[in-house]
Amino acid sequence: MPTLNIHPAIADLEKQIIAYRRHFHRHPELGFQEVETAKYILDQIKELELDIRHPVAKTGIVATMRNGDGPYSASGVGCIALRADMDALPMQETSDVPYKSVNDGVMHACGHDGHMAMLLGTILALDQLRDQWRGTVKFIFQPAEEGEGGARYMVAEGALNNPDAEAIFGLHVWNYQDFGSIGIRSGPVLAAADKFVITIKGKGGHGAMPQGTVDAIYVAAQLVVSLQSIVSRNLDPLQSGVVSIGQIQGGHSFNIIADEVTLKGTARAYREEDRQLIKSRLKGVCEGISATYDAAIDLDYQDGYPPTLNDPAMTEVAARAARRVAGDSVGEPYLSMGGEDMAYFLREVPGCFIFVGSAKPEHKDARVPHHCSHFDFDERALAVGASVFLEIVRDMLPAGS
Ligand SMILES: [Zn+2]
Ligand SMILES: [Zn+2]
Repeated sequence: MPTLNIHPAIADLEKQIIAYRRHFHRHPELGFQEVETAKYILDQIKELELDIRHPVAKTGIVATMRNGDGPYSASGVGCIALRADMDALPMQETSDVPYKSVNDGVMHACGHDGHMAMLLGTILALDQLRDQWRGTVKFIFQPAEEGEGGARYMVAEGALNNPDAEAIFGLHVWNYQDFGSIGIRSGPVLAAADKFVITIKGKGGHGAMPQGTVDAIYVAAQLVVSLQSIVSRNLDPLQSGVVSIGQIQGGHSFNIIADEVTLKGTARAYREEDRQLIKSRLKGVCEGISATYDAAIDLDYQDGYPPTLNDPAMTEVAARAARRVAGDSVGEPYLSMGGEDMAYFLREVPGCFIFVGSAKPEHKDARVPHHCSHFDFDERALAVGASVFLEIVRDMLPAGS
């Protein structure tokens, strides 16, 4: 069991933070529909001295807390942003926790309920501790992280402006790491997550008479095999990338040569240049197969979230704050090729996305993954995350300088 140094103000608020999380968990809402969620958040902070902007990007909230005029810190930074995402997933909760979702077919299975609770706790603590920091903090509650990229709309609607945030930090509870650990890393921490649809048009005919036909299923098979050469033969083996075909549709019956097949897949990479390489090779392979087998192949490549890139200097700030909370239990995060729309904020201002270990000790041998129907996490991670946020503010916007 790691020794944790939870800030006393957060320790006092821990019960409240857990209650917030359970409320959000019980009442999940899908992306861009977080109406009740937003109302609840606004209700919790209505007594505080904050400038509130709502709605931003349909259901989002930007709450700005000013404490002196800043900038006061040695780095000259006067305003930083802290971010939480608000949306749940379209799935039925299967576990029987007392705070189980009451909304049929909707569930907080990624931990965004916890992110909102941590940010609310941080707001309350920073309001109580106004003598321990000086400057401006923007609290960003953003909708629709799961696929629709709510962060992009928040940026477009000026969530980071007026006053301008000079840095941004976000946290994710992370069931792939033990409770008590914190994962922090400079550079890419989550992947660019793109989508593609390939339509192959051949020429149908009788299964017994392939002459004169163009068999779209045969062409699809060649394509599925050839696409795997991109990562294995084109990408630098020391870099990361994935091309996965998740869906194939086509054909009519056992004795009919298919005239059309559709493939759907995802392409992932950690670095922008690798993403562009995969994209251009996908196009090249489609063109080559098309020419070889005389089939019309259309590639519809849709850019998804960019890679999530942590800034080196801001990563240092986050690591310092995290070490104050979790000491030696701060290390490399468990990385994956998942995507995160925090990437859009990190493209605008330097910052750091932090992974807060939240696996329950009793799940040690069978980790409960995010997006599974019995997802749950160790609620003690909430106080850890809120403490890290608090320490970041005290570090970036110190009272005494
Ligand atoms: Zn998720
Ligand atoms: Zn998430």
